[in-house]
Amino acid sequence: MMDARYDVIVVGGGVAGLSGALALARARRSVLVVDAHQPRNASADHVHNYLGRDGVAPAELRAVGREEVSRYGGEIVAGRVGTATKDTDGFLVTLDGGQRARARRLLVATGLVDTLPDVPGVAERWGRDALHCPHCTGWEVRDRTIGVLATAAMSTHRAAVWRQWSPHVVLLLHGGPAPTGDEAEWLAALDITVVAGRITELVVAGDALTGVRLAGGEVVALDAVVVTPRYDARADALAALGLSPVSMEVAGHVIGTHVPADPGGTTAIPGVWVAGNVTAVGDHMITAAAAGLTAAVAINADLAVEDTRAAVDAYRRRLAADAAVRAASE
Ligand SMILES: Cc1cc2nc3c(=O)[nH]c(=O)nc-3n(C[C@H](O)[C@H](O)[C@H](O)COP(=O)(O)OP(=O)(O)OC[C@H]3O[C@@H](n4cnc5c(N)ncnc54)[C@H](O)[C@@H]3O)c2cc1C
Repeated sequence: MMDARYDVIVVGGGVAGLSGALALARARRSVLVVDAHQPRNASADHVHNYLGRDGVAPAELRAVGREEVSRYGGEIVAGRVGTATKDTDGFLVTLDGGQRARARRLLVATGLVDTLPDVPGVAERWGRDALHCPHCTGWEVRDRTIGVLATAAMSTHRAAVWRQWSPHVVLLLHGGPAPTGDEAEWLAALDITVVAGRITELVVAGDALTGVRLAGGEVVALDAVVVTPRYDARADALAALGLSPVSMEVAGHVIGTHVPADPGGTTAIPGVWVAGNVTAVGDHMITAAAAGLTAAVAINADLAVEDTRAAVDAYRRRLAADAAVRAASE
């Protein structure tokens, strides 16, 4: 791929990037996907709420996606884009290994990084029984004992949502302030137990969470613990383009960063689109895939405008040349 040229380079080959690449390859655009193979849900065994493929392994879904992109001539390479720059000749993408490729447009679908709360054991159980997304894994822990770790804003609200999946929900304050007023009333009304103490570690037996240990040594028995990560866009490669992530807030609380874009994925840098979790932290697999398709449609339309302008210029030059030949022969 050294110095190869493409219509579009897709940075990131998760579902957002692959879905965009599929639509572009089917639109007969030359496409290169560069993927570092570190998708966000790598630790999960199954994907849920992906209509038609509910329960599929994440790696299998992406492998099928890569095969579909390749079927239409899309190229896929394993690697990490270190930098992307723009000059009069379009975009130049440089991989960490030094390989380079050029493109007329970029689709950036690099996802996000989840920074987990600093409680021993959470990282090891992440995506298995340390969970964050009720719609992804709530069904799998239905009616079990679920502890909601209150390290972020809106924990009472989160506990109330998880109550939909189980009558046994415990709010773990981890040394933080106890809810008061309306929030205290919600907890009482929903029979959500509140545990005040600071947690020192997750307790695991065999290969399953059995509880959390409090600073006093007491263990609160649990089948799953809900944690709230900080979400940061993976956007280092875009810095040279001047496309930096900005802070993201929910109800006045900073929850991470994202690359701003309009709902179709258009960014502030002409020619650069984004799709999936890099811009929309709330995207699930199927909505990230849909965002990749939406961006691809917009990119193809943008290229069609450029192609038409070039065709019109060539057409006018041809007419002018024909007219000049006719004038010379008269
Ligand atoms: C534990 C867990 C379980 C989940 N379960 C579900 C579920 O059941 N159902 C559901 O709908 N959603 C689930 N999600 C959410 C789901 O993971 C995201 O919606 C989805 O991964 C977003 O897709 P994406 O393509 O935007 O990003 P990703 O899937 O993260 O893909 C981004 C890709 O870009 C690559 N990349 C990043 N930077 C570069 C670079 N510079 N150069 C090249 N490549 C790069 C990464 O390595 C990665 O392969 C889960 C999330 C987690 C954390």
